[in-house]
Amino acid sequence: MKIRKVGVLGCGLMGAGIAEVAARAGFETVVREVSEEVVEKGLAKLRGSLDKAVERGKLDAAERDKAWGRLSGVVDLGALAECDLIVEAIVENLDEKRKTFAALDAVVKEGALFASNTSSLTITQIAMATRRPDRFVGLHFFNPVPVMKLVEVVRTLITSQEAYDAAIEVVRAFGKEPVTARDNSGFIVNRLLVPYLLDAVRAYEEGVGSVEDIDKAMQLGCGYPMGPFTLLDFVGLDTTYYIANIMFEEYREKRFAPPPLLKQMVLAGRLGRKSGRGFYEHQRK
Ligand code: NAD
Repeated sequence: MKIRKVGVLGCGLMGAGIAEVAARAGFETVVREVSEEVVEKGLAKLRGSLDKAVERGKLDAAERDKAWGRLSGVVDLGALAECDLIVEAIVENLDEKRKTFAALDAVVKEGALFASNTSSLTITQIAMATRRPDRFVGLHFFNPVPVMKLVEVVRTLITSQEAYDAAIEVVRAFGKEPVTARDNSGFIVNRLLVPYLLDAVRAYEEGVGSVEDIDKAMQLGCGYPMGPFTLLDFVGLDTTYYIANIMFEEYREKRFAPPPLLKQMVLAGRLGRKSGRGFYEHQRK
């Protein structure tokens, strides 16, 4: 399984980051979105991130131009036919992911490796929508993808050794550090992180402290790089809400149940950074 060409499904928060990392690592990279308009928007965001890396001295301008030259955006799934690896980063919804992978399975070459960046669904559930569950892994990246070093590599009961080895190799080629996780909802990081974030919302609902003070307390008291509400705004309240529901459904444990305030904020369109307002006000992106 030699990986040269990478396809990325979705050019939102995570898809744009994954595509940027792949292109910067030297892979020809094709990003697929739902419409021309969203493709343009996603690529503009990606370009902004590359430019910022140059401004900050993390990337030289010539490297940026090369990475940009390796990137393209499409709407047609057929344009991914020759990819050696597909990384899916679309909305956290099982039906959508299964539908998309079933369609991909019909057009992408036999030997290609499929990967999902799902936060909380099991890889097995998604992989079984294709005829290649043995060539299917989880590649769980972290936000912001160009900065965060970790990728959880998820191996199911059916993942072949060859597919797993190829996944580990490509993660290293992306300049990231792999850890291997079992296919349990939430893998390692979200299994521990999600109950903590939901508990922060509950603490606020109960009046334990203000948003600012809870954030400050965890930052200065525990040495965390940011408090839970700042992190929730980064991750997206909608994404957190979907994740919590899926993990609750899977484990039936109260610690994964989304608190009412989280649901209300999602319904009210306060999704965090991406919508301009979450627990904090942000400059609209
Ligand atoms: P997002 O809402 O920012 O982006 C999702 C994108 O997918 C949107 O641009 C949407 O237009 C596009 N899309 C929807 N259906 C599509 C399809 N069939 N084909 C191509 N594009 C499609 O969401 P996100 O935060 O980038 O999350 C994407 C995935 O990554 C989810 O599974 C999420 O759980 C996971 N994830 C998120 C984070 C995070 O911090 N936000 C971290 C790790 C993993």
